[in-house]
Amino acid sequence: MDHTKINLLVRLQHLDNQIENIISLQRGLPEEINALEEDLAFTGKQIESRLKIAEERLKLRQRLNETINECRGKIRNFKEKQTLARNNKEYDALSKQIEYEEKEISHSEIQLQDIAHAEQRTLETQQTGRQLIEENRYDEMTEDMMPDDLLQQQLEDLSKQVKQKKEELDSIVVETADEVNALNKKIDEQREIIKKESKRLLDKYDHLRSGVIQNAVVKLNRNACSGCNTRVPTNRHTMIVQGGFYLCESCGRIVVHERLFDEAAD
Ligand SMILES: [Zn+2]
Repeated sequence: MDHTKINLLVRLQHLDNQIENIISLQRGLPEEINALEEDLAFTGKQIESRLKIAEERLKLRQRLNETINECRGKIRNFKEKQTLARNNKEYDALSKQIEYEEKEISHSEIQLQDIAHAEQRTLETQQTGRQLIEENRYDEMTEDMMPDDLLQQQLEDLSKQVKQKKEELDSIVVETADEVNALNKKIDEQREIIKKESKRLLDKYDHLRSGVIQNAVVKLNRNACSGCNTRVPTNRHTMIVQGGFYLCESCGRIVVHERLFDEAAD
């Protein structure tokens, strides 16, 4: 057996482990940021839809008030004309027009009341929410119960958290960029060497690492594969000690003597 080939592979595993260690520093942060950004977008949409409703109510209220003012103006005008009416027929016709405008006014007033009631309900719903929050009864809350000010606060808190986590991640990435680049270069070179020496071994290594396994090459530890803790048959120990490798029957990892990792780290 050619032991130098396995040494080359252990060296590759050593380099890949180093990259893995660096990446593990940021483990969780990208996922955490994604989750926070989703919450942030959801909160933003809630605020947006509340603002839209408030704006629509305001516009409708303005329109109704304008209508009422116009109607009142017309009524004043009709009443003035009534004082100049030449006969009952003219007078009655104006009375009918006044009546019509008055109906318009009361119709508009009902709509204004509806708006006021809807606003009152919104306030009461949020008041209920505030009460539930004070009593820690979050599971009984519905979306519309969240008070406006707390929703806004939530948006600001989430924005801050996203910013903070992003800065944290960025600084890790920046701090480790040179190291990662240097390692990647070494890894590429090492892979080229192994490809020439033993493509089969490299394929085996890549195949093992194509799933969840990162440590395709592992140390023999207490006579067992340190990847899965399955015992290595005694008759294979000598070969491992001599610098060879053993394919774990249980997990398929390449098991070598720990000395090879020490040598690869030099
Ligand atoms: Zn194993």
